[in-house]
Amino acid sequence: MSVRSDRAAAILPGGVNSPVRAWNGVGGEPTPIASAKGARVTDADGREYIDYVGSWGPAILGHAHPTVVQAVQEAAAQGLSFGATTEREVELAEEIRGRYAPAERLRLVSTGTEATMTAIRLARGATGRDVIVKFAGCYHGHSDALLVAAGSGLATAGVPDSAGVTAGAAADTLVLPYGDEDALTAAFAEHGPRIAAVITEAAPANMGTVTPPRGFNRLIATLCRNEGAVFIVDEVLTGFRAGPAGYWGVERDLDLAAGVEPWQPDLVTFGKVIGGGMPVAALGGRADLMDQLAPLGPVYQAGTLSGNPVAVAAGLVTMRLLTDDVYTGIARRADALADGVSTALSSAGVTHAVGRAGTLLSFFLGLDVAPVTFDQAASQDTAAFARMFHALNESGIYLPPSAFETWFVSDAHTDADIDATVAAVAAWAQ
Ligand code: PLP
Repeated sequence: MSVRSDRAAAILPGGVNSPVRAWNGVGGEPTPIASAKGARVTDADGREYIDYVGSWGPAILGHAHPTVVQAVQEAAAQGLSFGATTEREVELAEEIRGRYAPAERLRLVSTGTEATMTAIRLARGATGRDVIVKFAGCYHGHSDALLVAAGSGLATAGVPDSAGVTAGAAADTLVLPYGDEDALTAAFAEHGPRIAAVITEAAPANMGTVTPPRGFNRLIATLCRNEGAVFIVDEVLTGFRAGPAGYWGVERDLDLAAGVEPWQPDLVTFGKVIGGGMPVAALGGRADLMDQLAPLGPVYQAGTLSGNPVAVAAGLVTMRLLTDDVYTGIARRADALADGVSTALSSAGVTHAVGRAGTLLSFFLGLDVAPVTFDQAASQDTAAFARMFHALNESGIYLPPSAFETWFVSDAHTDADIDATVAAVAAWAQ
């Protein structure tokens, strides 16, 4: 194992191509994965694990679903990339719009980072304003304006979260505590006419899983509409994952059941599930805004591999396989996992809170109330999580290697997988 990771570290900074894979959040030697099938990943030594990473979201049907693999093989045989529009990418966009009505028009890109970066540019271009409001603890990819740290308290001018992000790039990003209606209202009162956009995860899932306080997304929508700002909902992680129409759909259904008109985003970003494990992401939204993108409008955006035919084939067939029954099954198993692990921890006297957003979940050890803000999430016992992570890894269960990540249940997880996971947590907690 260490020979392979030494070799990786000699050529890839930190031995990885994306930082979370280095296990800095839990320590120890990352497990190199050789293959995956269904709900299981197999490491380079041939050990199998029940997988709750799911490629960080895309593997909603389980890994290497035969229909998806076949679609990819057939598409590859027809040519890997043309740099021209294909019928299939139109079908994928239609499939997304059919489930997510606010995405009236779509632009396919390759990564979530591109989608959110383009959304920001489009919002600024359309409004002629500079200021972006984001929330501490919400991750929107690694473009400069969005890599801005949390400032505690009320609105603070953004401080770069990474070396190499200029103060200028961050200066127009205001960071607010998530879920804080007063801070948001005050930011609009003070900066309203300068605000181009508010961007938020539909439900935060990059500080652990957080349930948005009811009414928070609606308040953002109202303030943006009143002030002429663009409301960008980032569903890169939650889209077609938290539920059949992302987390927007979860709140839409609650609103409709309560006889309330659902709120609407102006722009929405997708990734992960819409590529079914291949690099596809998208920006969607109101037609009048989207039509300001080149070639129709003045906001430039382009991509050599955007809407790549092989990647789109994986996304399209994945979306088509995601029936209501599939979501019902995932929701049932996610509930069983959340309840089972929570009961096991409680029985052993381990203080914890469960974070939920649709079918997404995570556990905050050391907290007895599920957090809403990043500061609350950051006060969890990360050392205890690291101990649980390693104990479960030893038992053949592959959790996300950070206390700040969401656990992904797929359609391939069986009741027996969930039971085995709960038993492993119980054994660790004793
Ligand atoms: N937005 C959210 C909510 C995400 O969770 C992520 C990635 O995890 C991104 C954007 C960035 O997507 P990508 O990693 O494809 O660039």
